[in-house]
Parts: sequence; structure tokens; C-alpha cells
Amino acid sequence: MPKTKKWTLEDSEHIYRVKRWGAGYFEIGQNGNLQVTPDPLNKDMRIDFKAVVEEIKQEGIQFPVVVRFHDILRSQVALLNQTFQQTLKDAEYQGHYMGVYPIKVNQMREVVEEIVDAGAPFNYGLEAGSKAELLTAMALNTNTDSLTILNGYKDQEFMQLALLSRKLGRKTIVVIEKFSELTLLVKIAKELDIEPLIGIRSKMTVKGRGKWESSGGDRAKFGLTISEMINAARYLEEQGMADSLKLLHFHIGSQLTDIRAVKESISEGAMIYSELYRMGFKLEYVDVGGGLGIDYDGSQSTNDSSRNYSMQEYVSDIVYGMKQVCDLEEVPHPTLISESGRAITAHHSCVITQVVGEIKAHSAGIATLPAAGEHVLVSDMRELTEMVEQQENLQEIFNDASQFKEQALSAFKLRVISLEELAKIETLYWKVMESVQLRLKDAEFVPEEMQELDFALSSQYLCNFSVFQSAADTWAIDQVLPVVPLTRMNEKPSINCSLVDITCDSDGKLDQFISEHGISNVVPMHKLKQNEDYYLGLFLTGAYQDVMGDMHNLFGRLNEVHIFSHDDDPQDFYIEEVVSGSSVEDVLSIMQYHPSSMAKSVKKMIDSHISKGEMKPREGVKWTDFYENCLKGYTYLKT
Ligand SMILES: *Cc1c(COP(=O)(O)O)cnc(C)c1O
Repeated sequence: MPKTKKWTLEDSEHIYRVKRWGAGYFEIGQNGNLQVTPDPLNKDMRIDFKAVVEEIKQEGIQFPVVVRFHDILRSQVALLNQTFQQTLKDAEYQGHYMGVYPIKVNQMREVVEEIVDAGAPFNYGLEAGSKAELLTAMALNTNTDSLTILNGYKDQEFMQLALLSRKLGRKTIVVIEKFSELTLLVKIAKELDIEPLIGIRSKMTVKGRGKWESSGGDRAKFGLTISEMINAARYLEEQGMADSLKLLHFHIGSQLTDIRAVKESISEGAMIYSELYRMGFKLEYVDVGGGLGIDYDGSQSTNDSSRNYSMQEYVSDIVYGMKQVCDLEEVPHPTLISESGRAITAHHSCVITQVVGEIKAHSAGIATLPAAGEHVLVSDMRELTEMVEQQENLQEIFNDASQFKEQALSAFKLRVISLEELAKIETLYWKVMESVQLRLKDAEFVPEEMQELDFALSSQYLCNFSVFQSAADTWAIDQVLPVVPLTRMNEKPSINCSLVDITCDSDGKLDQFISEHGISNVVPMHKLKQNEDYYLGLFLTGAYQDVMGDMHNLFGRLNEVHIFSHDDDPQDFYIEEVVSGSSVEDVLSIMQYHPSSMAKSVKKMIDSHISKGEMKPREGVKWTDFYENCLKGYTYLKT
């Protein structure tokens, strides 16, 4: 027998890479539970996910649940702003930083409110890309020193709202995405006699790398070409509104994986700013858009789900890049704006789901004790199960087992062996393969044929959630998200599995996971225990995933708990708010059903059964109530 090393927390860290993607917030605790340190300045404050799960259960909240850590949101807002401020200082940069949070990345009221509140000391503002978001920004961004930046295509109403907010004393900048917007804005501004603040979005030649690279380049959907920008500036001059032109905007894509794209866009943007300035258009702001990436897979690489730089590096490249060009061109350093959404929100929320079952690659099989007069194929296969422990040459065992299984099938078809003997051979075959797989774990070299054993033998863990609701990007764009058991990480995870959700769609699965060697289609998990629930966390879901879910299979929004850390609490946290997820009624109403008339219709059927004497009245009332309660209930599995 090979010596089995005791499983350590480092071994688990190796598999799940929590420190790598956790950004200082998540870690595996000494007790083997996942823990969160929501405030990096207060490392003593640690929240144990097991305690969170217990509290959620005690409150009677059903899983799956979205958990939001408000402290993480606050911390990320502070971190981004402080990084910019410190870097500006170190660089002796003359302008300021006035960041804005793009609402589209997570529009939840509680999220936007928390960001605005945490951003107040930094005059951190909001970015809106639609009328609904603008209405939100107007109501929420009450700090008259912070900016409101308006991107996206705009109509007359949109322009009027922007001007209203100017009238109310806000620093609202309308970013022109195409030339016709400019003539519209000028016309309305003159009619209302309100001075607008205007930005222009540049169509950049540099493209981001990664999934969103089409946000830049000649075929980009947004922005003005160089000649259009010059025409726009001249047009404003003609209209006597040159002073309203305040900002140059560019955004080359989200989740920029390669820092080189950032550097290139900054030098291109800085040149355009300098030229416009020298032409007499004294812009005050340069807005570098979003794009600051998240290391979802912990590889610190240019993988689509990663990035090869840190926040500090990103900020330094913007600040020093801009300064260098401006100094060379002898123009003032503009105030810098960035629109980071993903980096602000990704870490703050996760989805907790329960594993409700295991779908095995093969069944447990049947009893395989030797029987008198059994066929030699059965005893041969049994012999392999005994040999596999000592045998040096695993390839030989693998080959023999595969061959015996094939022969058994032919023998059965020729009626040489019985159905029961075939079942025995199959059972023994899987036993052999499992032993081979186990022994290969310690092997330095695994032959190609046998590498597929892992996937062939892997189970699927059935999880109470919907990929389409809670992890849309894993399905739509192959985004990798960290999936980690919340407990038992001091135990060796003994089975490899992929995850499937409870939708009846075969795409409703997760089969890309972080692993020691890049991305794997299985993830090591612990064996389910009879009397113990097993919870998994799906992490870094706070940006986009949170709000992009769809109604596939009519699973709606999840129950949410909002967690605040608190030093005086024995568990270091409390649940500040619970937001109920969709009820069946809610999702049916959205699809134009009338739940109350549905209930009436079912009641009518029950009543008619009662009047025909086919159901007792008492029983009928019970079933009526049951149907109505199910309508009012949660859409996910009751566990
Ligand atoms: C989506 C978007 C952002 C946010 O980008 P992140 O990569 O999430 O930071 C910023 N600006 C504009 C114009 C956008 O469309």
C-alpha cells in the first residue's frame, strides 16, 4: 500500500486556489471551512461560511441564496479610489481622479446605494447607460461634487433629463456616441436655456483582448472617428458652446485580460486629448472607461477568465501613461475618470447552493461473490480486481479489463453467459477502473487512454440552482467561476465531479473548473454523507451574473441575504436584510398568467370531485390550500 499523506489545508488550497481569486477576502480557515475577511484593514474579523449557512437556515430562508457582503463593496470602492489618489500623488500628477460606478454592472438598489455611500468621501459618482439608469442616478447621486456620466444611445427625453439634472446643480456629462446626438442636445439645451456638460466618445483603433474586444476598433458600435470628433468640436464652437465640451471618453472593452491593451489605449487617448487641447478645446476630463479585469480562474494570465496585471499596475499605467504624453505635448494633466464596474462588484456576492444528489457514472452494481460453475470471464475479471493493488503495469490491467468487458458482451449476445454474469462482469469492471484511477493519482505519468478515466468515472453533483439565473456567463461566454465547498476542506475530496443544475436543459451544467493544471472539466468534491448537508459556493458573481439571469424554466430571482460584519458579534456578522426571491406567483405573472384564477380553476375541479363524492370535503380543502401555498412558494427545490 502506498503511504497516504495526511490531507492538509494547503492541499485544498492547491485545488481550489482560494487565495488566488479571493483577493484577500476569501480564505480556507483552520477548521476547513471557507471564511471571508470582508474588511482587509481588520483581519481579525472573520466570518465563517458555516455560520452564515446556519443563520440562513435558522431564519427559515430557503436555498439557493445569494449572499452579499456589503463590506466587500465598500472596501473595493475605497481600494480603487485610494489606489488612484496615492498613484496621482506619487506621480506628481496635476489633475484629480473622479471615478464613476457604471450602474449596468449591478443595478440592485442596495448595491448602488452602498457604493454611493462608500464613495462619498472620494466624490465617487455614477455612470448611466439608459434612461432607467439615468433616472436612478439622478435620484441616488445627490453629491453635487461627484460626476454623473451618461453613455449609450440617447433620445430627446434622455437629453431633457440630463439637462434637468444640470439645472439641479449636478455635474452631469452627456457623452456623445454619434454625431446626431450632438445636434439634438444643442437644440434642446438652447430651448431650455440650460448649459450642458458634453463629452465625446472616441472610437479607438486599439482593441481590447478577450471576450469584449469588439468594443474597440473600426467596427465598434459606439464612438466618433477622429474626423467626426473634430467636426463635433467645431460644430460646438459655431454654436457658441465650445466651453461645454469637457470630456474625452473611450472604452475598449470589459475584462481586459492583457495590460498591453490598457497601455495602448491610454497612449492613443492621451494623444487625442492633447491634440484637441492644442486646437483650443480645453477639455478637463479624460474618461478611460471600464475594463479593469478580475482573476476568476486565479491563473494571473491572459486567459479569458483572468488578467495578467494587478489593480495597482492598471492604475499606474493610466496615470503615468497620461502624464508622459501630456508633459511631452505641453498640455495640462486632465482629471482622470474610470468606469470600473466588474472590479467594484465581482467579489461582493456569491451563490450558496446545496448538493441534492449524486448522479453516478455507473450504478453500484450487484453482488459479485464467486458462484459455483461461473464463467471464466467472471473469474478473470475478479482476479483483476485483486491484482490491481500490486500490479506495476496499470496499463496492462486497464487493457485486460477493457478486453474482458468487450468479450463478455459478445459472449452474452451468443448466450454463452447469463444476464446476471454480465452484470457481475460489469460491476467488477468498474471496480477495476476505480482502483486504477485511484493508483494513477500518485503516478507521475498517465498514458493518454487512461487520462479520460477521470471524466468517465466522474459523478455529477445535482445542485439546487439554475445556471441560467445565477451563472449566465458560464453558459453564454464560457466564463469560469470559482466553485468551492463551504466546509470539509480539511478532508480529502475523494470524488471528481461536474455540476448540474435543476433545470431540465442539458446546458444547465458547470463543467469548467479551476484546477492545479489550468482548467479542468471536473472538480474534486467530498462524498455526500447521509445526515449532513453539503453546500457549495459559486463565487465572484457580483458583476453582471447577479442581474443578467433569465427566466429559463421559470426559476426566478434567488432569496438574498445582506451581510454586514460586526466586531461585537460573536460570529463577526449579522444579517442586515433579507430580500425574498421570486415566488411561483411572481414568475407566472411576468409570463401573463393569472395565479388567482389558476387557483380558482383548480379549486373548481376539486369542488366538483367533492360534490360527486369522489373526495372528502376535508381532503378537498387540504388540496386546495396545498395548491395555493405552492403558488406562493419559492420556485427552487425545497430541501
Ligand atoms: C460596461 C461598461 C463599463 C463597465 O466595464 P467593466 O469592465 O465592468 O469595468 C464601463 N463603461 C462603459 C461605457 C461600459 O459600457
